[in-house]
Amino acid sequence: MSARHVPLLSADAVAALPERARDVVEYRKSGLSLNHIQGCPLDCAYCIRHTYGLWDARRPRALMSDAEAVERLVRHRYFRPHATPLQVFNRATDPFLPDVREHLFAVLSDLDGRELTNHVLVITRAHLNVSDCERLNALRHLKMTLLFTYSGIDDKRIEPHPSQAVVKSMRLTTAHASRRYRTIFYWRPLVPGLNDTAAHLARAAVLSRWADATVFTGLFYRDEIADYYRASGLPEPYEETARRKIVPETLEGRILARFARRPPDASPLFRKTSCAVSYVHGLPDYNGHYGIRELCDICPAAQLGRCAQAHQVPTVRQLHEAAADLPEAAAMRVTEITERAAQIDGFPSEQPRYFLQHRLAFQIHDAAHPHRQRRHGRAEVGWENAND
Ligand code: SF4
Repeated sequence: MSARHVPLLSADAVAALPERARDVVEYRKSGLSLNHIQGCPLDCAYCIRHTYGLWDARRPRALMSDAEAVERLVRHRYFRPHATPLQVFNRATDPFLPDVREHLFAVLSDLDGRELTNHVLVITRAHLNVSDCERLNALRHLKMTLLFTYSGIDDKRIEPHPSQAVVKSMRLTTAHASRRYRTIFYWRPLVPGLNDTAAHLARAAVLSRWADATVFTGLFYRDEIADYYRASGLPEPYEETARRKIVPETLEGRILARFARRPPDASPLFRKTSCAVSYVHGLPDYNGHYGIRELCDICPAAQLGRCAQAHQVPTVRQLHEAAADLPEAAAMRVTEITERAAQIDGFPSEQPRYFLQHRLAFQIHDAAHPHRQRRHGRAEVGWENAND
């Protein structure tokens, strides 16, 4: 049977897409993200597609060829060979859908053929098979990490795709012999009252043995997603929306307590995606979370040592030098630098901030959106003294 591909949109159809959807290379916190295939039939109610005006796109389509997309990625002003962490198809489709996987492998083979050693993150909840493991293993240069999204949500109105499918994929890929790629149990989105009973937590602790590391995180509850929940009559998880992921304090405390009693062969637990991705490749965190020391209290000692050794507080001059090639950083002002983070203002969006953060492996905070102590860069929702 010939390999399956998705239909290629005409130039007119691409021009008619929402503006943000047309931006196929976008910097997100965990890496520079390539998204020239858009559309997904899995229908998770909380999908980030809502925020790109793409919720109705259920059938994956291509905005351009894979070769053109890779060229755009590697020529992008944010791209640095061997350094910039990359993500493929993490915004508008699942990379291992039957029609999408050939595009994923075309992109990965192209990047690997250039002998690039960048981190590449691939997030999925789809079915993977032995052939996928072999093809991933054939990549010689990229630092590949598969992140398996698992929520344990049973309400089919919120997540119609069965969580069990991803458990099978994770077990298969992690058990594959002599693999070069790494696997992460991506436990999310955690939502109080929906998937946080003691039984849910105990199950996650058991599943975490089938990956090299585990990350827990909450829900992006943005206005567009809240509107959809209301219009569809779904139970609303929170009374307010937020620009960051929501992980209430009591939920985090219960997760940490449960994982303190996890099976001895369970994988280490992390709060941050980049921490887990870096750990599974034996490298310090590329987002420089080490500066935010309270994040590191659950990290394995050897990893803590790697991050401690790599931690360097940049100077104002180094920040300006790192941003020198970016026209959008012309108005950047460094307002404060501490051991924890550099605070800047004057950026028109989050993207140049992520660029700087990855270039310097140091936390860069926007003065307009201050990070609160102990809140781990998450939303204020569900934390005591939220405005302290
Ligand atoms: S030491 Fe801290 S920054 Fe480094 S990986 Fe662990 S939690 Fe992340």
